[in-house]
Amino acid sequence: MEILKLIDVNKFYGSTHALKDINFSVKKGEVVVILGPSGCGKSTTLRCINGLEEIQSGTMEILGEKIDKNFQNWRKIRQKVGMVFQSYELFDHLNVMQNITLGPIKVQKIGKEEAIKTAKFWLKKVGLGDKEKAYPKELSGGQKQRIAIVRSLCMNPDIMLFDEVTAALDPEIVREVLDVMLNLAKEGRTMLIVTHEMAFARAVADRVIFMDKGEIVELNDPENFFTNPKTDRAKKFLNMFEFKK
Ligand code: ADP
Repeated sequence: MEILKLIDVNKFYGSTHALKDINFSVKKGEVVVILGPSGCGKSTTLRCINGLEEIQSGTMEILGEKIDKNFQNWRKIRQKVGMVFQSYELFDHLNVMQNITLGPIKVQKIGKEEAIKTAKFWLKKVGLGDKEKAYPKELSGGQKQRIAIVRSLCMNPDIMLFDEVTAALDPEIVREVLDVMLNLAKEGRTMLIVTHEMAFARAVADRVIFMDKGEIVELNDPENFFTNPKTDRAKKFLNMFEFKK
């Protein structure tokens, strides 16, 4: 079953053609990783799927709902499409439990007790069971990002979008966030992930989408993408990465 499908999607920012005829789909239980150089359109792809940016042409099918440039009901879609950002987006004046249960209680109208129970379950699972009363400023970047992931999980999304969620973290704490995502993948969660962590991408992905200059250049399985990419552009990208490491 397809959770998400993009058909000939185009996105412009003024005269910048950020997405050019994008076509791909994500099936239930699949982990798809989007790779590509900075500015190629990875983040824009996720932001269009979550309605944070408008598309100019093409169609998206999200959980059976057909979405074109005139679509309005993003509120409904966002309840089912979770997004985790590089910048956590936590409320500083709310503690961890309040941050996490805000969406379920206010938006999904779930009872407070049940929302807290679900939050405790996920907090424990990501190793932060003792942090429910802490405020964001008392947490490390890695902890904040795990809280942001828990907040999204508590909305019980059908697909989760991750936009470079470890890019702002110190190298020694990147691992703790990636491990949470690896576990979610193992449990069969449907995810669309933008990352620059190549070893992680290889480990977590069922399929890799490689983008360059607003286009999908290559769709491949991770093993072949990393050992024997089909395109010269992907080869160049991967070489650059080896060099940088
Ligand atoms: P990536 O996530 O791969 O680094 P982005 O999706 O952020 O790439 O950007 C794709 C292209 O769109 C780039 O050329 C970028 O400069 C441009 N872009 C992104 N966001 C905006 C914006 N809000 N306004 C104008 N141009 C943008």
